[in-house]
Amino acid sequence: MKSNRETAGSPRNLEADAGSPAGSAHRSKRCRERGLRAAVLLAAWLLAALPGLAVTDQLDPADSRRLLQERLDQAARLNVTAPWPESQAILDEIEPLLEYATPDQYATYKHLRIRNLALDGDFQKALELTEELLEQDIPDHQRLNALMRGANLAMNLRRFEEAFDYLDRTLKLEPQIDHPDLPADAHSLAADILRSIGKFDAAIEHGNKGVEVAAARGNVRTDCVARMRLSAAYKANNDLESAMREYRRAMERCQDAGDPVYIGIVEFGLGDTLRMTGRLDEARELLESALERHRKNDYATGVAETRMVLARLHLERGDLDQAEAMLPELVEHFTESERWDDLAKTHETLGTIAERRGDHEQALRHLKSQKAARERFLDMDRARQLAYLEVEFQTQITEQELALLREQARVRDLQEESQKQQRRLMYMGYIVAAFLVLILILLLAHTTRDRRRYRRLSHQDGLTGLNNHTRFFEIADPAFSSARANGNPFTLILADIDLFKRVNDEHGHLTGDEVLRRVAARLREVFGDTGIVGRIGGEEFAIALPGYELADVREPLDELREKLRSSRSEDDRIRVSMSFGVAQSNDEASLIELRRRADEALYKAKREGRDRVVFVDASS
Ligand code: GH3
Ligand code: MG
Ligand code: MG
Repeated sequence: MKSNRETAGSPRNLEADAGSPAGSAHRSKRCRERGLRAAVLLAAWLLAALPGLAVTDQLDPADSRRLLQERLDQAARLNVTAPWPESQAILDEIEPLLEYATPDQYATYKHLRIRNLALDGDFQKALELTEELLEQDIPDHQRLNALMRGANLAMNLRRFEEAFDYLDRTLKLEPQIDHPDLPADAHSLAADILRSIGKFDAAIEHGNKGVEVAAARGNVRTDCVARMRLSAAYKANNDLESAMREYRRAMERCQDAGDPVYIGIVEFGLGDTLRMTGRLDEARELLESALERHRKNDYATGVAETRMVLARLHLERGDLDQAEAMLPELVEHFTESERWDDLAKTHETLGTIAERRGDHEQALRHLKSQKAARERFLDMDRARQLAYLEVEFQTQITEQELALLREQARVRDLQEESQKQQRRLMYMGYIVAAFLVLILILLLAHTTRDRRRYRRLSHQDGLTGLNNHTRFFEIADPAFSSARANGNPFTLILADIDLFKRVNDEHGHLTGDEVLRRVAARLREVFGDTGIVGRIGGEEFAIALPGYELADVREPLDELREKLRSSRSEDDRIRVSMSFGVAQSNDEASLIELRRRADEALYKAKREGRDRVVFVDASS
């Protein structure tokens, strides 16, 4: 596919040389003529311009502009119909008038100068002037023209980055331009440049646009160029049917336009396409006609290209002599003009001829040269591709960066919103959790309180608050065992309210209960800190005193009885005394045995008349 590019590239090179017969070989001929023409022009100029210059001093700005316009129109006409030095002479003459020029006139002047520089082969200087022109404040259609010229010049100078940059700016400015031919030119230029870097689809798209615009405008020359470039794009894309169709249409337009160079180029393109489809006779006729035309027009590159394709055609027909006859000087020409792809094809053709003739040594040499030329072509192709990608990539990157930035902003917004949401949820979570914890704490406190209450209730006697029967023995039993194990004394007191039945009978149960509570309080007062006090029956109490001997309890018992007595004097109606049975442990194995002895003592105290203490000796 790539191989088609350089061959098909001739229209662009021609346009770069600005639309009149051009090419390096042609330039040398022009240079020969240049001296003669210059002499003639100088004479003409002396006759015409001297009085003009004299007048210039007295011209007012409006007159100057009018004169400038006349001369510019004249130079523009000459620029496409006569060798460039003729229009250049006019430009040199009117240079002093430039200070009066409108921006449009100034731009037109510069364009003509740039075109002449390009025609003279000084692309470098032409591009510099183009850049200067673009820095000026000039009308948009002039700017577009300058951008297109910049793209063309930069392509010729192999400054591909700049070329694509100019093309990019051209295509961006193009939609804003209302000018009969410029948009078609811009698209045709794009088609040509895009084709040269293998972007065939885009090239065809622009080619079609160029044709469309040119057809609508009705300028046959623009139409001819647009169709020629579209055909080349189709051909490069190997769509040979479309290429042939467009080449035939281009041929009609170019014939109408009467441009011999363009007719030759179209004949070449169509001929080469026919050759590629195998229609060798038709192809040969067109290619030979193109060769003749290019020779006449002194279009050296066209001649070289056509001869090379003709050589291949002859080779395909098996006519080695005819093929060889086409090839002399082509290697030099393509090397000089750095058309590496054509050079590679030339070596390939030469190599095939040598091989068919049996000269393998020569064939190998051409094969090597072909490879070297192909390498150089690929290098340049890569540079072009890279430059294009850089320009295209930059726009893509810019768009991608913008999209990325927009996306990032959106993500940031979303993140902020979701963070807010998260914070809200978190706060709500904290509140709910705190609430739950509070409820749990309350529940726990409540349960703990209840548990404590139930435990206390299960241990306590509900009426007096003393240890109940179960609890008393739960505590007293281990205390007894511990005292016994350590050889310590242990004393148990059993106490029973005397004739309590009577209290109930005389004062009622409620008062009886009150008496029970009061008695319990006294017991706690006296023994609460030293012993284990419990209510083990209705009006029967027990006090366990670990570490106490009988003698130790006499005094507290007296104190208790005294308290009971004093309380009795407080409320004369209720007379309460108690009987006590006291026993000190005497090697008993259990508290039950000790209790039995204390019980006996209590019984004895009752029997002996109540309100007394009976001690059971440790020895008894
Ligand atoms: P003694 O001096 O022989 O012990 O005579 P007593 O009347 O105290 O003994 P008895 O065993 O005959 O009677 C005990 C009375 O205690 C019977 C019962 O009504 C009363 N009693 C037992 N528990 C309670 C109680 O919780 N509240 C009241 N109000 N009375 C109780
Ligand atoms: Mg009793
Ligand atoms: Mg009693």
